[in-house]
Amino acid sequence: MSGAEKNRPESVLLRTELNDLSGNPRKLLNCAAKMTATKHDRNAWFKGGTAKCEVTLAPGARAYRMVLLGAPGVGKGTQAELISERLGPCQLSTGDVFRAAKTLDASERTPALNAALDFMKQGKLVPDETVIGIVRERPSCLRCPGGFLLDGFPRTVQQAEALAGMLKDLGMKLDAVLSYDLPIDQIVSRLSGRRTCGGCKAVYHVTTKPPRVADMCDLCGGKLVVREDDRPEAIRVRMEAYEKSTAPLADYYRQRGLLMSIAAEGSPEDIYKRTAAALAARP
Ligand code: AMP
Repeated sequence: MSGAEKNRPESVLLRTELNDLSGNPRKLLNCAAKMTATKHDRNAWFKGGTAKCEVTLAPGARAYRMVLLGAPGVGKGTQAELISERLGPCQLSTGDVFRAAKTLDASERTPALNAALDFMKQGKLVPDETVIGIVRERPSCLRCPGGFLLDGFPRTVQQAEALAGMLKDLGMKLDAVLSYDLPIDQIVSRLSGRRTCGGCKAVYHVTTKPPRVADMCDLCGGKLVVREDDRPEAIRVRMEAYEKSTAPLADYYRQRGLLMSIAAEGSPEDIYKRTAAALAARP
């Protein structure tokens, strides 16, 4: 493993290797080894079906089962990584499953998955049945002894109801729903300035987290690109989709006593501190 790879967070390692799944058997083996060796093993989440993980809960630790809510660009993904690193639950992002699927050969994708990727490319929400099907195929993630942190799912009330049904069948309960709030002008500025490495998928921002060399990844030297769904036309569609479908989720979870609203202003560390304090203050 190179020095740069060693310093990369697990989620970046995983995404890098997934990008290479299509052609290189050696990379595939390395990928499987890394995924089973890491504390936040997301093998079952990415592969679905009968894929197994090796996650164990540290003695004395508690397993958090949580959902993260917030418009695109509020920094949910960064908080998910921090919470996962510090409190233990695996970050389970449905967006990551779709992005990983993009790297598969067309012949390996189901028609539903191909259709899902088309919706995603336009910044639209993937139909509920497809997303619910993807989560339903991964029951071991919902009953994982290390807990879970759903990021990007549910996004509609229908998805939330489906999740409630799945958890009930498994005899599990949600501990909390963390909702990150940020004014819309700040959201648009965060998203339009975001740059992603085409190679290792590390994330930068033109003003708040610029790379050392313009348009080049500090970690792997890859070219930085604007993610398809971060283009201005897609941002607009995503914000509309969020307002229409996702905002009512906050009410759904508020009515069930699970919603915790967290101001998403400031640095990732500031936001994490608010999150940890809110969780600690729960009855
Ligand atoms: P994200 O990384 O969570 O922003 O997701 C990227 C894209 O994947 C979204 O813009 C949607 O097209 C699709 N997607 C991810 N999760 C869901 C979901 N729960 N429901 C519908 N579409 C989703």
